[in-house]
Amino acid sequence: MTTNDKQEVCSFCGLPASEHRRLIQGDNCYICDVCIGVCYEMINLGAEEEIIESAEEIKSEFKVELTPQEIFEKLNEYVIGQSYAKKVLSVAVYNHYKRVQNNLYNESEIDIEKSNILLVGSTGSGKTLLAKTLAKILNVPFAIADATSLTQAGYVGEDVENVLLRLLQAADYDIDLAQKGIIYIDEIDKLGRKGDNVSITRDVSGEGVQQALLKILEGTVANVPPGGGRKHPHQEFIPFDTTNVLFICGGSFEGIVDVVRNRKGKKVIGFNSIDQSVVLSDQECYENIQHEDIQKFGLIPELVGRLPVLASLNLLETDELIRILKEPKNAIIKQYQKMFNMDGVSLEFEDDAIKAIAETAYKQKTGARGLRAIIENIMLEIMFTVPEQKDLLKCTITKDVVLKNGKPKCEIKEKTA
Ligand code: ADP
Repeated sequence: MTTNDKQEVCSFCGLPASEHRRLIQGDNCYICDVCIGVCYEMINLGAEEEIIESAEEIKSEFKVELTPQEIFEKLNEYVIGQSYAKKVLSVAVYNHYKRVQNNLYNESEIDIEKSNILLVGSTGSGKTLLAKTLAKILNVPFAIADATSLTQAGYVGEDVENVLLRLLQAADYDIDLAQKGIIYIDEIDKLGRKGDNVSITRDVSGEGVQQALLKILEGTVANVPPGGGRKHPHQEFIPFDTTNVLFICGGSFEGIVDVVRNRKGKKVIGFNSIDQSVVLSDQECYENIQHEDIQKFGLIPELVGRLPVLASLNLLETDELIRILKEPKNAIIKQYQKMFNMDGVSLEFEDDAIKAIAETAYKQKTGARGLRAIIENIMLEIMFTVPEQKDLLKCTITKDVVLKNGKPKCEIKEKTA
């Protein structure tokens, strides 16, 4: 591109170069500085209209069409077992988005209060998976935070507002959409843990964090630092309204079964003694958890009160772990089979082998979390050699392979003469 020449005229307004401060030359055409200004305004105006349009689109599009049963069925595609938790979540999430729709579009006199959710279940039982899958089914942005990494403003760690920033990033900085997203806060039970030493860099009792969390859970307009990190006095903030964000908090609440057992026993025969005849199984204890049991873990009552929907997850049994290995859309075994297929090899796990993997995970008490690590360990040697064996057709994993007593059965391609 070159600039002006006295003979040339602007291809847009038709005025000669002498009438303009600048005339810019393109391929067989010219544009003057005034026309550039006009175009610039047109483009900006168009963009504003577009933004308004897309916000309208979201508003009109934002409808959760699924019924609780449909949500439940969709969850079934990804999450094995945990029927009770799935049912509680399906209803709670359906009600939550009905409330959001009501508050957004109807000028109703009745304000339906927000009901955030608390998931109680041992590690690897599927709490994060449930929250993540819900967001996927409902097509809303999703962010995860670990309560233990959060700190009260002014302490070393991550400010609570950064969690909102993560949701905003998941929504591609679309604030309207982000404000209807889901945030999962893991390890909420650890906030109540009391430390022996007082620290000046960390809010050990977690109470400051609980207060900060309480605010965003209740619904507030928080100031989110767009770049993340520490707040800075001269920084510009993005106002983020958390009124319609669904918070799902999760924790293992280790020892909660004893808390429930004590409560139930004492209620029957009075204070300070436990009636042995009403000793509940762990499963029954999980089903009977109440908010007062949660408070025993040092969570402030206001925070517990802001998590009115309580769903407990079962300890996963061996047969459920077997199903987790095989059934979900992205089941671990399917993933390995896909990887082997890419090398032209078919991979099979004998039923006994799958059972042995599930039993090992069950013994480790890490729920489904341990399954992948166990398989990785078994498959390491095999995956190291498979790509080298160009004539390999099929590889079968037996129970002996899982128990490290043997090698996989291998089928080799027949050589053509
Ligand atoms: P938690 O949050 O309860 O500690 P996660 O949801 O993170 O557990 O689960 C850990 C791993 O185990 C994930 O890979 C998840 O896909 C798998 N998993 C856990 N529970 C289930 C379940 N009920 N059904 C299917 N997969 C599960």
